[in-house]
Amino acid sequence: MANDTYDLIVIGAGPGGYVAAIRGAQLGMTVAVVEKREALGGVCLNEGCIPSKALLDSSELFSLARDRFAGHGIAIDPPRLDLARMMARKDDVVKKLTDGVAFLLKKNKIAWVQGTARLAGEQDGAHGVEVTTSEGTQQLRGKRVLLATGSEAAAIPFMPFDGDTVASAREALSFDRVPEHLLVVGAGYVGLELGSVWRRLGSQVTVVEMLPKMLPNTDGQVADTLMRSLKKQGIAFRMETKVTGFAKRDGKAVVTVESGGATEEIACDKVLVAAGRRPLTAGLGLEDLGVRLEEGRIAVDANYLTSVPGVYAIGDLIHGPMLAHKAMVEGEVFAERLAGQASVVDYAFIPGIVYTWPEAAGVGRTEEQLKAEGVAYSVGKFPFMANGRAKCMDETEGFVKILATPDTGRVLGIHVIGPRASDLIAEAVTVMTYGGSAADIAMTFHAHPTLAEAMKEAALDVEKRAIHA
Ligand SMILES: Cc1cc2nc3c(=O)[nH]c(=O)nc-3n(C[C@H](O)[C@H](O)[C@H](O)COP(=O)(O)OP(=O)(O)OC[C@H]3O[C@@H](n4cnc5c(N)ncnc54)[C@H](O)[C@@H]3O)c2cc1C
Repeated sequence: MANDTYDLIVIGAGPGGYVAAIRGAQLGMTVAVVEKREALGGVCLNEGCIPSKALLDSSELFSLARDRFAGHGIAIDPPRLDLARMMARKDDVVKKLTDGVAFLLKKNKIAWVQGTARLAGEQDGAHGVEVTTSEGTQQLRGKRVLLATGSEAAAIPFMPFDGDTVASAREALSFDRVPEHLLVVGAGYVGLELGSVWRRLGSQVTVVEMLPKMLPNTDGQVADTLMRSLKKQGIAFRMETKVTGFAKRDGKAVVTVESGGATEEIACDKVLVAAGRRPLTAGLGLEDLGVRLEEGRIAVDANYLTSVPGVYAIGDLIHGPMLAHKAMVEGEVFAERLAGQASVVDYAFIPGIVYTWPEAAGVGRTEEQLKAEGVAYSVGKFPFMANGRAKCMDETEGFVKILATPDTGRVLGIHVIGPRASDLIAEAVTVMTYGGSAADIAMTFHAHPTLAEAMKEAALDVEKRAIHA
C-alpha cells in the first residue's frame, strides 16, 4: 500500500490513535498508523496508566504483607523487596499489552510505520505525510489524517528533566533503587499515585503543591478524606507552597520552596515533577498548514476536524481531560462519524479516578460545582465502615456520595472514595449516561456481600431510607 493513498493515516498509536485506526478499519477504511516509539500504545501503555497501575498493585501487595497481614492472622517474617523483580513484572505487563496492540493492528490489516511523522501538505488531492525512519524518509498519502500525538510532561524551566535526579513520571516508573527522600512537585493524580508507590516501598515522600487543595476538580470531601489517608500513610504535604529554585549539592538535590513569604530549602535524592502535561504539537508541521490552536491545544469541531480540511485531532491534543478512556472514546467516535454515523462523546460523563489507596473516583458534578452554579441538590452518603464486604476486607475507609435533584432524584454526580472505587464508578457512569435517578440505583439488585452495596445504600440515603446506616 506504500505508494497508494490510504483512506486514513493516524499519527500516534496511543489509546486515541490505535482505537481510531481499528474502528476505521472495522468500518472498511484502509488505514496506516505512524508511531515514533518502538512499541505501540502511547504514553498510556508505555509510561502512563499501565506501568503506574502495575507498580501500584505490586507496592500495595508489598505494604499489605508488611503492615496488614498480621491483622488477618497471617504471621510472616517482614517481606523483603526485590525491586528489580517488581520492575521486570511491570515491564512484562507493558510488553504483553503493547504486543497485544500490534496483534490487533495486524488482525485489522492496518499498516504500522515506525517513524516520526510530519504533515507535508497537499499531494495530488490527498494529504502528504513525511515519515522519518531509521533508514531515511518515507512519504505516505492519506485522504484524511488523524493527529493523535498526545502530550508530554511539562518541565519547570529552572529545573529541567535530566533523566536522573529531576524525573518525570517516565523515570519515576523505573527508578532502580528506592529513593531515600522523594520530593514530588504537584498533588495531581500522577504525583499522588507515584508518591504512593515509592512511599509504600519505603521512601520518605514530600508533596509540594501551589494550590491550597489537592485535586481541585475532585469533590472536596473526597479530596480531604484522601489527603488525611495519605498523611496517615506517611506522605508529607506542603500545600500553598511554590518551588522557586533548584541546585545539586553534595550529591543531593536541593529544592527551594516558598510559602507565605518564607523561603526554605528541602534536600532530597530525587524530584518527581508532576506539574501537568502539555499537548505534543511541535514538529508536526501544523504552522505551515495553518492548523489552528486554542490555548495550546488543537481546535476541533464536533467531527474532530481541525481548521484544515481532511486533518483531524483527538486525545490529549484537544480540549477536555487528558485521560486514556476519553482518548479511546474519541477515537471510536471520530472513525464512526467519518463513516457517516451519528456517534457522540458525552463529555459530561467522563469518570476521573485516582488509583491511590483508598482509591478516589467521581463522575458528574461535585458539590462545590453545584453550589457555584446555584443548582439545588440532595445528598445521599454511605460509609464503607457499614459495608459488610469492606469489613471482611478490612478496608473500611471512605464512602459513596450521590448528588441528585431534590424533585426527581436524577443523579447529578457520584463520588466514591474507598476500596476499588475505580471499579465501583462504572455503575455510576452507566446510570448517569442513561439519565437515571437515585431510585433507579436503589431498586436494582446489588449482590451481597459486595462493595457495590454501598452504592445502593447511598442511593437509598438520597431519600433518607438507607437500611444499614
Ligand atoms: C504516569 C501517568 C499515569 C497515567 N494514568 C492514567 C490512568 O490511569 N488513566 C487514564 O485514563 N489516563 C492516565 N494517564 C493519561 C493517559 O496516558 C493519556 O491521557 C493518554 O495516553 C492520551 O492518549 P493519546 O492517544 O492522546 O496520546 P498518547 O498516549 O500520548 O500517544 C501519542 C503517541 O504519539 C506518538 N507520537 C508523538 N509525536 C509523533 C510523531 N510526530 N510521529 C509519530 N508518532 C508520534 C508518541 O510516541 C505516542 O506514542 C496517565 C498519564 C501518565 C503520564
